[in-house]
Amino acid sequence: MSDVSLREYQQRVDDWIRKVGVRYFSELTNLAQLMEEVGEVARIMSRTYGEQSAKPSEEKGDLADELADVLFVLACIANQTGIDLTAAVQENLKKKTSRDQDRHRNNPKLRMKPEPDDKPESDSKLGDFDFTIT
Ligand SMILES: [Mg+2]
Repeated sequence: MSDVSLREYQQRVDDWIRKVGVRYFSELTNLAQLMEEVGEVARIMSRTYGEQSAKPSEEKGDLADELADVLFVLACIANQTGIDLTAAVQENLKKKTSRDQDRHRNNPKLRMKPEPDDKPESDSKLGDFDFTIT
């Protein structure tokens, strides 16, 4: 799929729902779907960047796919409630910029955090070590 604007994406989701999905789930069902998809993102994040480990039977998960699932359900909720996400994100970013002009820059706690690219060791690096318990 080539680059797509948020507005185009909302339209594509609407087309998909009408052609493939038959109709939108109710708003409350989609809210539950959104929580389910956010939970799937949380599971991957917890195991990849947090202290939680995966169960032996558990699949690793695909963060990009789960984030796309979240975006899909968000677009569904926006479509069925008449929200133009393009306008909403533009207004939201304007609000955040105005409200937080100096807030984060003056937050000393942010200087103590690791850089975003300081990733913890992933499970794949565990293969480099011998975990034999003696
Ligand atoms: Mg999912």
